[in-house]
Amino acid sequence: MKIITLDIGGTAMKYAYFDKDILVFDDTIPSEASLGGNKVLENISSIITKIGNQYTYDAIGISTAGQVDSKTGTILYANENIPYYTGMELKKLLEDKFQVPVCVENDVNAAAIGEAIYGAGKGESDFLCLTYGTGIGGAIFLNHQLYKGTQGVAAEMGHMVTHPGGLPCGCGSFGCYEQYASTTALIRTAKEHNPEFVNGKAIFSAFDHDNNDAKRLIDHWIEEISYGLINLIYIFNPSLIVLGGGIMTQSYILDKLNKIIKESTVTSFHGVTIALAALGNLAGVYGMKAIASKEYQEK
Ligand SMILES: [Zn+2]
Repeated sequence: MKIITLDIGGTAMKYAYFDKDILVFDDTIPSEASLGGNKVLENISSIITKIGNQYTYDAIGISTAGQVDSKTGTILYANENIPYYTGMELKKLLEDKFQVPVCVENDVNAAAIGEAIYGAGKGESDFLCLTYGTGIGGAIFLNHQLYKGTQGVAAEMGHMVTHPGGLPCGCGSFGCYEQYASTTALIRTAKEHNPEFVNGKAIFSAFDHDNNDAKRLIDHWIEEISYGLINLIYIFNPSLIVLGGGIMTQSYILDKLNKIIKESTVTSFHGVTIALAALGNLAGVYGMKAIASKEYQEK
């Protein structure tokens, strides 16, 4: 089966072409999402047309920011990053235009499915994915299926409260996990101590040069990460937790987390492995390949 997949974000649009199990090519262009849903649709269409001029394809898979009804392929809700995108019947519009089956899924779900079928979760039946960046996103796999909840928006791990009465969060609550354990939270705290700590790279570079301030800040941040993970381990007793987000490639984080978690949980929960996501920013296009080729099917 030959499949075109796209991963639509607030700033970038990644696309890929798969021939059976081979990723033939992939590239990234600006999504121009701030110009609105119609512009995004226009950009999706021109990529598909361009690929279609050179290659045949049997299906199209679209991973996108925003809440998605994956059955109808409609955008249920998109925030101000993509104006006039809410309500767009993406599946119908693209099927009418290109005359092949089109699958649409939320980008966090698509990335989790990619990791589950082809990446760090391959072969696992029950595991969790968490991604650390501006906020914290998550996904739950139970019995080889993505658990979506009644409204399809389950696994918002970033809004578990780890500090009651703590910092205000965009969700309207206080003390949410992502206000303390996201990459943004680390940078915010680090900048207060040292204005040179402008991003994760600067903080970890100082850490690599034995900067005690950086080490203390990172150790404290890793403890914040562990609070959320320990809660989840006690609830789900998973075999695996996959951590994504660019900053997680710093091996110190995973080593330290594994140590804290062993020390802070009872032995019957020690079977859990904390692992790094394997597909990086290609997880979304791989996930859509799994869905469009029906290698992953919702039951
Ligand atoms: Zn929140």
